[in-house]
Amino acid sequence: MAETKEFRAESKRLLDMMINSIYTHKEIFLRELISNASDAIDKLYFKSLTDDKVGLSKEDFAINIYTDKEKGTLTISDNGIGMTDEELENNLGVIANSGSLKFKSENESTDDVDIIGQFGVGFYSAFMVAKEVGVRSKAYGSDKAYVWKSTGVDGYTIEECEKDTVGTDIILTMKEDTEDECYDEYLEPSKIKELVKKYSDYIRCPIKMDMEHTHRKADAREDDYSDEAYETHIVNETLNSTVPLWRKNKNELKPEDYNNFYKEKFYDYSDPAKYIHSKTEGTTTYDALLFIPSRAPYNYYSKDYEKGLALYSSGVLIMDKCADLLPDYFSFVRGLVDSADLSLNISREMLQHDRQLKIIAKSIEKTIRSELKKMLNNEREKYEEFWKNFGIQLKFGIYDNYGQDREAVQDLVLFTSSFEKKLVTLDEYVSRMKEDQKYIYYAAGDSVEKIELLPQTELLRDKGYEILYLTDNVDEFAVKVLMNYKEKSFKSVSEGDLEIESEEEKEQTQKLAEENKDMLEYLGTALDGKVKSVKISEKLKSHPVCISTEGQISVEMEKVLNQNPTNERVKSEKVLELNPEHPIFETLKSLYGKDNDKLSSYADILYNQALLIEGLQIDDPVSFANKVCALMSQSN
Ligand code: ADP
Repeated sequence: MAETKEFRAESKRLLDMMINSIYTHKEIFLRELISNASDAIDKLYFKSLTDDKVGLSKEDFAINIYTDKEKGTLTISDNGIGMTDEELENNLGVIANSGSLKFKSENESTDDVDIIGQFGVGFYSAFMVAKEVGVRSKAYGSDKAYVWKSTGVDGYTIEECEKDTVGTDIILTMKEDTEDECYDEYLEPSKIKELVKKYSDYIRCPIKMDMEHTHRKADAREDDYSDEAYETHIVNETLNSTVPLWRKNKNELKPEDYNNFYKEKFYDYSDPAKYIHSKTEGTTTYDALLFIPSRAPYNYYSKDYEKGLALYSSGVLIMDKCADLLPDYFSFVRGLVDSADLSLNISREMLQHDRQLKIIAKSIEKTIRSELKKMLNNEREKYEEFWKNFGIQLKFGIYDNYGQDREAVQDLVLFTSSFEKKLVTLDEYVSRMKEDQKYIYYAAGDSVEKIELLPQTELLRDKGYEILYLTDNVDEFAVKVLMNYKEKSFKSVSEGDLEIESEEEKEQTQKLAEENKDMLEYLGTALDGKVKSVKISEKLKSHPVCISTEGQISVEMEKVLNQNPTNERVKSEKVLELNPEHPIFETLKSLYGKDNDKLSSYADILYNQALLIEGLQIDDPVSFANKVCALMSQSN
């Protein structure tokens, strides 16, 4: 019997953590063991380049996995560099690089769930699923082999053993199933295959396993579906694809390759709208494979949706969804990043502060932006389709974080234009503005149809000005954050002065305002508390009245903000505008001073009409209806 040695104190703690782990992704142990095996193979392969005595060529290197249901063991075997007895002692008795322990001691309260999820925990993760772990190893250049064995915290033994070839076998004897945990499944080749595909698909050396393949016998009778009609072969399969798609040369790859990869990896049944394969070298070196889906995932606009790109370090998956790699306004992008500059054992907390990662994220943002720009310029139809799916997200991007990203996004944004009701960019709008036009005009409302009915848009359109129609709730807020584009500021058609009048017209309005000053003031008092003032309109053509607003809150914003039940009621500062060309204006004039009661009642009716046109609720519908009825009875 070999003497049982104790683990060093710190290893004991980590081991204890693993054995008693309630971590839900215990399956990552396989990724860790395969990644160790792959490292060991890399080391020996590297030696073989300069040392003929290794006697192996590139194709000979492999990781083999065996399952034995009867014995309850899973074996991961590599022909890598192996370990001497001393190395077994030093590497497995102690945690060499125990980032996780350090983290644990600094954050005593953190439980193991966090830690295991955030770190590559290495070899000891085997103890999450195994009650006994054996490591048989023969180091390159040594003629003796040793086996290291442990059942957990009690310690480990190292003994000499028989092993012909150089390399390491990790033999896991699985724990017994419990009510909550099934360890037996790790003895199923199909489960192992699934895990290899999931976590280690792109390990460079082949990962092989015997798989059962059942076929129909060639001579089976057509109507025979009994067991006799089938035969089973054992096929030694390579489970991983060995060369990651993103490491391949772009010119070797066809669109189908990308599309298939996308669909398989991201569980989408339609091809992506766009794929981006970028290889970047410089301050940081990384490969990225990015996809813009052709449809928004069903949960995209819910809080369940998690943004992020898969993060690999030299082909080994570190994290499924690294959120820090994508800004929120590009949260719809799926894909992955692989960089040798990132360590496998990096924690999520550390990642957030990682300089390399920040550089990568920045460069990815740029790549996506320029690809979208290209699509916008060269494939307009496709872009508009994309816009239908994800446009809102980009508009939120302008508005989020107090507008700090607005410049990154503003050139990707589309609005419906009053010209032919087509989608236009801000650049297109500005480049065809009228010669003396100072502002980018916009009108907000529930739909294009409703906006077109707004009295405020009539004259502008009539005079040939283009108006952007803002139909999403976020639109007007985004425009407010943008403030201006190419030095042109935005102006809502509901603002008082649209500055579209000629000098003459202005004078005319002023004259009218002067002449009717008293009446306008009287009307203002009659509508006290409802409007700030009543004035002569410069923008109405055929309609008698409209509402305009002063200050930051527009009528549309008032509507949107008040949809939120917890908001305090928000009110815009309204001005009632009268069209001096409309016959009703003459009626008002003739009433003033003669029948002021009637004038007040008319003012109220007109004000309520203007509210209704804006799609706002009126304060007292009953009194409004009564007043209208009274008017109708009079005229009879
Ligand atoms: P890490 O891989 O982060 O160093 P591990 O706990 O996974 O930490 O492994 C500790 C060490 O044990 C490794 O650094 C390596 O030297 C050695 N080792 C583990 N598995 C193997 C293997 N299959 N072949 C050779 N050496 C190994």
